[in-house]
Amino acid sequence: RLDAMSEPSIFKRILQGEIPAEIVAETENAFAIRDIAPQAPVHLLVIPKTSHYRNVVELAAGDPDLLTEVIGLANAVAAEHADGDFRLIFNTGEGAGQTVFHVHAHVLAGGLNEKSLG
Ligand code: 5GP
Repeated sequence: RLDAMSEPSIFKRILQGEIPAEIVAETENAFAIRDIAPQAPVHLLVIPKTSHYRNVVELAAGDPDLLTEVIGLANAVAAEHADGDFRLIFNTGEGAGQTVFHVHAHVLAGGLNEKSLG
């Protein structure tokens, strides 16, 4: 498990230009990229620039303004890349499928009319 005190997370390395990725949108404290393995017609990740917070619970407790900024950027990229409607998913913990322990929001959009959460 990566954390703030060990090696940089994959998202920090993307932000620093060490791993290629197109940054599709950015605010002062957050950025958005396409997921490398999309699970919906539009699948973006919205990521705080800081790697201080491992998950959304830590982010909400430690910096609620930054969580609000992440949600605002999610809304903006969903409007730009789809019709504006979206699912916002924060996998929290290994048992929930979280693999990168640098908090990030999955923005799923485009043709998601079914009720299932999967
Ligand atoms: P988690 O499973 O932690 O909620 O989500 C991590 C996400 O990061 C996965 O959906 C995975 O496909 C994506 N991902 C992992 N490595 C890379 C990468 O190098 N580039 C991009 N664009 N996405 C990545």
